[in-house]
Amino acid sequence: MRRFTFAASATGATYTAFPSMEKPAQSEIVVKGIAASQGIAYGQIFLYVQKDLDLPQFQIDPARRVEEIARFDHALVETRKEIGRVRAEVAKNLGEDEARIFDAHLMVLEDQALIGETIREMEKTGLNIEACFHRVSQRYVQAFEEIPDEYLRERVADIRDVSKRVLHALLGQAAASLSSILQNRIVAANDISPSDAASIDRSNVLGIVTEGGSRTSHAVIVARSLKVPAVVAVKGITEIARDGAWAILDGYDGHIILNPTEQTLFRYGKLQEKRRTVESRIMAVNRLPAETQDGVRVQLLANIEKAEEVELVRNYQADGVGLYRTEYLFLNAAHLPDEDEQYAAYSAVAEGLAPLPVVLRTLDLGGDKADTSGVARVDSEANPFLGFRAIRICLEIPDFFKKQLRAVLRASASGNVQIMYPMICSADELTQANRLLEEAKEELRARGQPFDPKVKVGSMIEIPSAAATMDLLAEESDFFSVGTNDLIQYTLAIDRLNVRIAHLYQPAHPAVLRTLRTIFSEAARFKLPAGVCGEMAGDPAYAALLLGLGATSLSMAPPLIPTVKYLVRNMKMSDARKFAKEMLELRDAKEIQTRCEEFYRDHTKELALG
Ligand code: PEP
Ligand code: MG
Repeated sequence: MRRFTFAASATGATYTAFPSMEKPAQSEIVVKGIAASQGIAYGQIFLYVQKDLDLPQFQIDPARRVEEIARFDHALVETRKEIGRVRAEVAKNLGEDEARIFDAHLMVLEDQALIGETIREMEKTGLNIEACFHRVSQRYVQAFEEIPDEYLRERVADIRDVSKRVLHALLGQAAASLSSILQNRIVAANDISPSDAASIDRSNVLGIVTEGGSRTSHAVIVARSLKVPAVVAVKGITEIARDGAWAILDGYDGHIILNPTEQTLFRYGKLQEKRRTVESRIMAVNRLPAETQDGVRVQLLANIEKAEEVELVRNYQADGVGLYRTEYLFLNAAHLPDEDEQYAAYSAVAEGLAPLPVVLRTLDLGGDKADTSGVARVDSEANPFLGFRAIRICLEIPDFFKKQLRAVLRASASGNVQIMYPMICSADELTQANRLLEEAKEELRARGQPFDPKVKVGSMIEIPSAAATMDLLAEESDFFSVGTNDLIQYTLAIDRLNVRIAHLYQPAHPAVLRTLRTIFSEAARFKLPAGVCGEMAGDPAYAALLLGLGATSLSMAPPLIPTVKYLVRNMKMSDARKFAKEMLELRDAKEIQTRCEEFYRDHTKELALG
């Protein structure tokens, strides 16, 4: 039997491609999208399609009610089995802690009040059982959402999840679940939510291809950290790709090749060899400092989502953590993490990396990071990115916010912790947040618990109003960090997730460059550091531009650090400054982008694929 092998550089694993004669004869199809996370994956497609349930509602004959109840019982049994199966898989793949959420789901399923009420609803209304179950579970969700007790409120997510499963079982449809991937697969989906992404097991997911999404959607940000290749905005992929079909996912060029021919596999094999050579060139200098040729040391930091990523931060030689997205602790959590649980996660990172700095960003739920924890009590909003999000949630639920602040402060006793607030829109919000921080410090003093009294506090600059009031924010900030993902969407009025207008999401837009110039020069005027932690910082094409404009650090997914460092070591800061000045003179975003790519290529000629 003939076999081709080629290695996927993104995961370091070797996959074996079988010649086409062993596969059903299907023609090769290339579908274009947007490259979102670098790397090549070769494997079979796992179709992950979530459709809205089409819930029927009709009157049933009273004589058939017993049958309806039996159908309901059967659905409950099936759902219980399914949850048990998923629980076992998650426990095996992700650990017992992550699997506990399903115990809570089983408890919902066994809730006699919910079951009894559904049957009574049927007797009262004469409607089919799925319609009755849906009505009752909706009433439960509403009632739980109004309860002031946090623990009970967070059960809302469990009820929603379980109800969906039961309805799927009643309607005879399987509910899609990412945790049910058992073998190495390329996931093809309409979209992947951040909580789905947080449960991805990188040993099973070879790559991700989605119809929606963008380079800055949070699922993609997670994929980049995990070094999982991803291509987004691939129109119709869930219609075109068949479950189980073989495919090559090219996360460099941004396309997917379904049913690749032998020639294509061979070509990719060759390409992979070249990429491996380039990668080893980049890695060879990664232990050296990020210092430009004219002697300027640049701080390259890591963005992390989970405490377990400390290892990655070290492996990629980051100078610390510039952004720890703490909200990931709350996505998919079996229960709302209490102060001690939060402290355990934060201090593990602080301690594990001390004396390197670790910037802990306070909760940034909302936007595309739907509140699965039940904290915010946000159901759905017309414009979630302009809605109840991040610091807005925290300031409205001060007890909850202070719990996080106390956990962060306690972690500051075991490392070099800094605190950062997301989505600051006005100086008043910063003052309110700092007031709560002072209260949290007082509470810890009263308890006799140690913390760093000089802990630094930073504001994220990701809303144009913050960029325009840097002087006001400087009064109460020790540092700034620019969240370009949001800053671009709010400056250009382009939803960062909207595929239809993805081409208008332009990091190199002159308005973005001018805003960045203002931010950095204002920060310098107040002698405060201002780094960048949005995805732009990890894009080697923009690294020189950002540094030239005055960024004092760049923070990115750990696997992106080596390439940016390679560029930094091959350029002069004086050239980057000159270059940035020139770019500020240009009027066309595409031209600026092309010039940025040229700058990168001209300074890293040894990395060309040839
Ligand atoms: C940003 O907006 O650039 C940022 C880093 O925050 P997030 O992507 O989590 O919104
Ligand atoms: Mg942001």
